[in-house]
Amino acid sequence: MKKFLLLTTGGTIASQAGENGLTPQMDAAGLLHYVQQLKDLYQIETEALLNLDSSNIQPEEWQMIARRIFVDLAYYDGFIITHGTDTMAYTASMLAYMLQNIDKPVILTGSQIPIDSHLTDARVNLYCAFAAADSGRAGVYVVFNRKIICATRAVKVRTMGFDAFESVNMPDVGEVRSDGILWHSEPSKNNGEPMLYDNLESNIFLLKLIPGTRPEIFDHIVNMKYSGVVIEAFGAGGLHHIRRDLLEKLKLLEQNQIVVVACSQCLYEHCDFSVYEVGQKLLTLTNVIPAYDMTTESCVTKLMWALGQSHDVKKVKNIFSRCYCDEIDLKYL
Ligand code: ASP
Repeated sequence: MKKFLLLTTGGTIASQAGENGLTPQMDAAGLLHYVQQLKDLYQIETEALLNLDSSNIQPEEWQMIARRIFVDLAYYDGFIITHGTDTMAYTASMLAYMLQNIDKPVILTGSQIPIDSHLTDARVNLYCAFAAADSGRAGVYVVFNRKIICATRAVKVRTMGFDAFESVNMPDVGEVRSDGILWHSEPSKNNGEPMLYDNLESNIFLLKLIPGTRPEIFDHIVNMKYSGVVIEAFGAGGLHHIRRDLLEKLKLLEQNQIVVVACSQCLYEHCDFSVYEVGQKLLTLTNVIPAYDMTTESCVTKLMWALGQSHDVKKVKNIFSRCYCDEIDLKYL
């Protein structure tokens, strides 16, 4: 019988109505009570690691989760993490970077309605999460609404619907069907021993541009000593430079050795800052890294992770020039 570790961290799946709205209250035993059949199929050990709404999950919690898994990597056949859906894509992506070359499945799941509700999606999500872990396919995945999604490609796209996650710029890795799991791709090959990279630089900023964003925002970013910035630019890659010259002001970040990752506000397809005049100038700055087809969640977490290894702009660029866990299409590297 396979042995899995179920780590609970809170989220809607474990929530119950309190005086101030839904709050996570249930522990792992409470969750397992609703999915009794799992106990006949697997040996499940549990740990209530956290009990938070995922809005409160931050880099310190990512480190805690990654370390907890890594320490017992050899001991279990896989790990299932229940987590709030709101920031699950960030956690999944970060775990994929932190847990390099792991040889076990790490599956994140949660639900849109608490597990004790009669309409809940929690039970099917948990059953599917264990089925994905049972497959033995190594790596970090989000399992939701019967879909198996690569951790660095998951994005939460719905607030209420059960199909809350999409795999962006990459097909789902697989799906749970009536005849078992149908895989849509081959697992990627490990190239070495499992490693834990748990240094993170959380001091980074995400700037989503709006028409008219004032360039002085970059003065504040420098003054606040941010180590890195992700800029969600317009379309295929554009920033305004008439009246409010963002491109000129970005030189300040270059002078201060602050790394900039440039991605698009569009959810789908890749950005290419060389296409338009409003983007090209950005590429002349030595501190800028184009994100191509990476999701914003994956850019933010990769930047924190890369800066956790080095603050040297060249080294960070070097880290970004590699694909670690399917976060970027290799054709862009
Ligand atoms: N607010 C909840 C959370 O992210 C939402 C959910 O779990 O669906 O913890």
